[in-house]
Amino acid sequence: MTKTISVLGSTGSIGRQTLQVAGELGLRVAALTANSQVDLMEKQVRRFCPELVVMMDEDAANELRGRLSDLPVCVMSGEAGLLAAATLEEADTVVTAVVGSVGLRPTLAAIEKGKRIALANKETLVCAGELVMDAADRFGAQIVPVDSEHSAIFQSLQGCRDRKEIRRLILTCSGGPFFGKTYRELEPVRPADALKHPNWSMGAKITIDSATLMNKGLEVIEAMRLYRLPVEQVDAVIHRQSIIHSLVEFRDGAMIAQLGTPDMKLPIRYAFTWPNRAESPDGPLDLLSCGALTFHAPDMDAFPCLRIARECAKAGGTSCAVMNAANEEAVMAFLRGEMGFNDIPRQVERALSAVAVKYTPTLEDILEADRMAREVVRNR
Ligand code: NAD
Ligand code: MG
Repeated sequence: MTKTISVLGSTGSIGRQTLQVAGELGLRVAALTANSQVDLMEKQVRRFCPELVVMMDEDAANELRGRLSDLPVCVMSGEAGLLAAATLEEADTVVTAVVGSVGLRPTLAAIEKGKRIALANKETLVCAGELVMDAADRFGAQIVPVDSEHSAIFQSLQGCRDRKEIRRLILTCSGGPFFGKTYRELEPVRPADALKHPNWSMGAKITIDSATLMNKGLEVIEAMRLYRLPVEQVDAVIHRQSIIHSLVEFRDGAMIAQLGTPDMKLPIRYAFTWPNRAESPDGPLDLLSCGALTFHAPDMDAFPCLRIARECAKAGGTSCAVMNAANEEAVMAFLRGEMGFNDIPRQVERALSAVAVKYTPTLEDILEADRMAREVVRNR
C-alpha cells in the first residue's frame, strides 16, 4: 500500500482528485508539480506541505517561490524539476497526471527508482509503451493504471494466473458528445461543442480526444502495452452510460467486468491501496436506478481516429509516437480555433505519411519521431 506520493500534474483534473483521495487515505505528499497555475499550487502546498514543488514554467516558479517564502519548501522549474519530483527518495508512489508525452522521461525516471507508478498519463504508454513496460520489469516497478478502463481490466484480472486464459479485452467507450453523428455532420463542430462530455468532467485535451474517439484509440494501445496483448485481442464497444468500465473475456467464454458510477476517485484510490481496498466516502452505484445498459459498435467512418490508432498499433515501431504527438498538436490547434474538428484526424494522417517509421526504436528515436510529427502539424 502507498504511503507517500509525488503527484506530477497536481493542478489538473486527475491531480486534484488524487489530492482529495490522498487526504481521505492520510497519505503523505512529498512533491507536487504543475505547468503554470500558481494560485492553485500555492493552496495545494499550504494544505499538503510537500518538500518539493515544481512549476514547469520558470516565471511561475519564481512567482511561487516568492509567495511561499514563509515555508520550508524547495521550488524548482522545468524538466529538471519534473525529474526531481519523479525520483524523490521519500515517495514510494508517483502519480503521473500530466497531459501529453512530456510525461515520458519522468515516468521512466520514476520506474528506474523502482517506484509504484499510478499511471494516468496514457500518452506515455502510447508513445513508448514497450520501453516503459520493459523498464518496469527490469527495475521491479509496479505500474497500476488509473485510467478507468484499464483499472477495470486490472481489477477484473486479479486472480488470473495465466495471461493465456484471456481471449480479449473489451474497453467500453461513452461515445462522447457526438455519438450517432456522421463525418459530414462533424465538419462544423466547434471547441465549445466538443468540450461538453456527457459523463465525465476532465481536462481539455482528453475531452477533445473523447469527442474524436482518439481517446479510445490511445486506450487500445495503452491496454496492449499494459497487458502485452496484440491489437486483435483488444476491442472497444460503445456503452453510453459509463457504468461498466471495461471487461475481460476469458477462453471459456466468461466475462468479468467492473461496474461503478463514473468517478475517477475509485481507480485513483485502488492504485494506492492495491492489492487491498479501502472504505470510500462516496456512495456506491444504485443498480435499481441506473437504468438500462446499452452497447453499440463504434462508427469508424465518422470517427477515423479510432481506425488510425488501430492501424498504428498494428504497424508498431515509432508510428504510435508519431500519431500521439500529431494528435496533441492538432488538438491544441483545434482548441485555439485554428483548425476544424475533422482536421484532427487529417493532420494525424499527414504526419503519419510524412514521418518514416523506425522499428525497435530507442528512446531517442521515439523523442525524435515525436518532434518531427509536431513539426509536420505546426507547418501545415
Ligand atoms: P488536465 O489538463 O486537467 O491537467 C494536466 C496537468 O498537467 C496540470 O496539472 C498541468 O499543470 C500539467 N501540465 C500540462 N502541461 C504540462 C507540461 N507541458 N509540463 C508539465 N506539466 C504540464 O488533464 P487531466 O484531465 O487531469 O489528464 C491528465 C492525464 O490523465 C492525461 O494523460 C489524461 O489522458 C489522463 N486521464 C485523465 C482522466 C480524467 O478523468 N481527467 C481520465 C483518464 C486518464
Ligand atoms: Mg479512460
